[in-house]
Formats: sequence, structure tokens, C-alpha cells
Amino acid sequence: AKEQASIITIFGGSGDLARRKLYPALYQLYHRGVLADHFAVIGTARRPWSDEFYRDIIRESLQDEPNTDEETVASFASHFYYQSHDVTDADHYITLKNLSQKLDDQYEAKGNRLFYMAMAPRFFGTIASHIRSENLLSAKGYNRLIIEKPFGRDYDSAKELNDSIGAAFNEDQVYRIDHYLGKEMVQGLLALRFTNPLLTPIWNKDYISDVQITLAEKVGVEERAGYYETAGALRDMVQNHIMQLIAYVAMQQPTTFTPEEVHKSKNKLFAHLPVLTEEDAKRNWVRGQYLASASQKGYRQEDNVDENSNIETYVAGRIDLDDPRWTGVPFFVRTGKRLAKKATEIAINFKPLSHNIFDAVGSKEARVNRLTVYVEPEQGYTLTLNGKTIGADYDLRQDPLSFRYSQDVIDAAPEAYERLIRDALRGDQTNFTRWPEQEATWKYIDVVRKAWDDGADLAMYNSGSHGPAAADKLLERDGYSWAETF
Ligand code: NAD
Repeated sequence: AKEQASIITIFGGSGDLARRKLYPALYQLYHRGVLADHFAVIGTARRPWSDEFYRDIIRESLQDEPNTDEETVASFASHFYYQSHDVTDADHYITLKNLSQKLDDQYEAKGNRLFYMAMAPRFFGTIASHIRSENLLSAKGYNRLIIEKPFGRDYDSAKELNDSIGAAFNEDQVYRIDHYLGKEMVQGLLALRFTNPLLTPIWNKDYISDVQITLAEKVGVEERAGYYETAGALRDMVQNHIMQLIAYVAMQQPTTFTPEEVHKSKNKLFAHLPVLTEEDAKRNWVRGQYLASASQKGYRQEDNVDENSNIETYVAGRIDLDDPRWTGVPFFVRTGKRLAKKATEIAINFKPLSHNIFDAVGSKEARVNRLTVYVEPEQGYTLTLNGKTIGADYDLRQDPLSFRYSQDVIDAAPEAYERLIRDALRGDQTNFTRWPEQEATWKYIDVVRKAWDDGADLAMYNSGSHGPAAADKLLERDGYSWAETF
């Protein structure tokens, strides 16, 4: 792997994200040689830690990681420095700037700066404006900013956030994380779509009946109730992850696989998100909330949740893109917590046969072809075809052509955060989101939110079930049904 030189500053270096995701990801990059001699990491947070204490935290965060040995871990940890920091104190930025320069000289990092905002979003604007006012940007190499979700909570707050980071960084320096774009099978979906002459020409309304995207979680709200009570599944999962998956399923083929062309295609697609009315939103979106089961609390009984909370832990919806390529093809999406199992899947249902020659001999009906992309936890895909049951009669049956990556291969593959940080180090924005995507998706989502806030049913469902019956009815109403995921 080509070595990348950089001084990486992590705002929120003592936090949960940094420990669970970022340090392991940086370690694997070190193991693979993407990071080697010419990098240093500055962790900042409020607590007054020493470098030594910080390095112990780094070592601890790697305990369950593969590819670790004492010596490599020690040399990796020696690249980490800690700076206690209050985000509102201008003096602290000057200290940070001096430390960055010193480490840049020491490690010959070529003036490259990668800033990672791993803190609560309310601080992002303050940090960005100080980065600019205290002149932390390097004049010599690159300056890049990685920024976490949530990117706002509606269009207005997203715009405000974007304007505030825009004061310090240009769009081509901003790397907005949507970690679904770092997942193997999400990236693999593009390979499936654009390299198979079998699929590419039929990827449109003439051959596809409907698309179904499922992001099902088995867990409940866990320790995130404080945040979740202000967000809900629509903001937490649909505006970002589900919308990004829709883009990858539905966007036109980019002319080349470069960040510019991929984002051009995505932007065009998002421009086709329909202008919703609240009435459409009420008709085509269902919200739900989980109830208790024998062994688990209901959402309203969880710690830090209002006992009358109307926050949705489940969403199902129908999106009709305003795109001639997809006229009449509904995109059904659903996501929820406490469902029967964890599964992220994309199902493409093809249109039925117009005439079946075997009907005349009393054969069973031909079923529709379906391509399912399994994103998680299984990774691979299945295409169903009609075949014949062995025997003298012409009985049709549905046969799956299935491919799955083996668990060994999955375990050895880089995790989403590792891929995305590597992309940012290399200056590749393909798998990050751009502002126009945020803008278009928030505008759409805001209408659904508004319709619900103005009063809409909250469909209760049992923990461990497949979600509320209202989500099934949403499809049945128009003659569709969910692919069996659960
Ligand atoms: P956290 O609360 O665990 O960590 C917050 C960090 O910010 C800590 O290091 C804390 O010391 C620091 N901090 C807080 N106030 C400060 C101040 N005034 N000055 C200086 N430092 C301050 O949060 P987290 O779970 O690590 O999440 C960080 C970001 O990542 C958030 O934007 C969150 O939405 C996002 N995110 C987290 C996860 C996850 O798995 N934890 C997943 C997706 C996105």
C-alpha cells in the first residue's frame, strides 16, 4: 500500500467513536502500510491526559483487533499525542497549531492536515471557525475535514452547519461520513450494476417492478436514548443511509468511476426526489415504535425516554422518483429497531412475464425474478430464476443462484471506517456525501417529519417481530408485498 503522510487531529479523542472505530481503523491502516513513518495523531478532548495515558487508551482500544502484536502496537501508539482542549478557547487552537507544526517537522508529514470531528455536532461550527481564525490550516500540503453524522436535524440546521464549516473549508476538502458507503456490498452494488451486460440494460422501469431496501436492527435504542429522543429513525437512518442506497440503486451510470462523475450522477438522481405534500407523506409513510416483550423493555420504558414519547423506532415508506427512467417503479424502504433479526438487504423485483407458454399445460405460475443484494450480516447476492421440477410434468419451480462471501474473507476485509479514512488520506471523495445530496434529502425528509408532527398514527409493534402491520398494508394497498427478510 502506498504510504500516506499526514498529521491527523481528532476532536473528541476520548470519545466512544474514537475508541471503538477510529483507533482500530487507523491501526489497520498502519498494519497495511498506508500509515507508516510519516504520520502523527493528535487527540483532543476536555480531560487533562498525558501522552502516556492517551497511548494506554489507544492500546486498550486495540485489544480485540486482528493483526496485533505487541511491538507493532507499541510503535503505532508512539505516533499518538494528546492535547487537552476546550473547543471554545481560542488559545487552545494556537497550542494545537504549534503542536501540529512540530509533529509535521518531526515526522516529515509534508504539511498535510486531516481534521476529524468526532464530537457532538453542535461543536462543529465552533471548531471550524477557530480552525480558520487561528490559522490551523497548512499552507503547504492538503487540509481536509472528516465530519460525522448527523449532518443537521433538518434542512435549516444542516444548511447552518454547512455554512459554518464552509467558512473554513471548501467543498472539495470536506469528507462527510456516511459509513454505509464504506460497506463492501454497497460498493459492490455498483460493480454488479455497471459491469454485467446481463443487468445493465434492464435496470429501468421497463423491467423492474419495484425496489425494496431493508435496514433492520435487532437491538433496541441501547445507550443512545438521549440522542434518539431528539432524532428518531427517519432522521437517524432514512435521510442518510437509506437515501444513499437509493442513489446507488437508481442513479444513472457515471461516465467514469471518479468522485466528480459519481457525485454528478447522484446529484441528478436526488434532484428527482419528488416534491412531497404532507398528504402524500401521510399516505406513503408509516412510523412505528417497539413495545415490550417478555424479556425486553418497550421503547417508552427505556432509560431517558419520555413515557409518552412519540419518537419512531421504525419507518416504512414508498418513494416514487420523479425520473423518467423510474416512472411507476416504487422504492419501498423500511428500517427499525428490535426487529426479528439484523439484516441490511436490497431487493430488486423484476416485472412478471407477459405470457407463459406453460400455462396451457397447467404448469405452476412462473414467479418473478428477484435480485437480492445482502449487505449485512451476510454478504453476497442471490438471483432467483424459474426452472423446472425434475420429472415428466412441466412444473415450474424457483431456483436461487446464490453467492456469499465466506466469513473468513469478510473478517479479513477492511472495515468501513478503515476504507473511508484511507479514502480521505488519498483525497478520494467518492464514498462521502456532498452538500447537494444533504440538501435534497433533508428537504424531502422534512415534509415527512412535518406531516408526522402535525399528527399521524404511531403504529406499535412487538419487540422481536417484523414490524407493524401498517408497513405490510402500505405495500398491499398497491399490490406489492415485502420480500421475506425475516
Ligand atoms: P462521545 O460523547 O463519546 O465523545 C465526545 C468527545 O467530545 C469526548 O472526547 C469529549 O471529551 C469531547 N468533548 C465534549 N465536549 C467538549 C468540549 N467542550 N471541548 C472539548 N472536547 C469536548 O461521543 P461519540 O459517541 O464518540 O460521538 C462523536 C460523534 O460521532 C458525534 O457526532 C456522533 O453523532 C458521531 N457518531 C458516533 C457514533 C458512535 O458509534 N459512537 C456513530 C456514528 C456517529
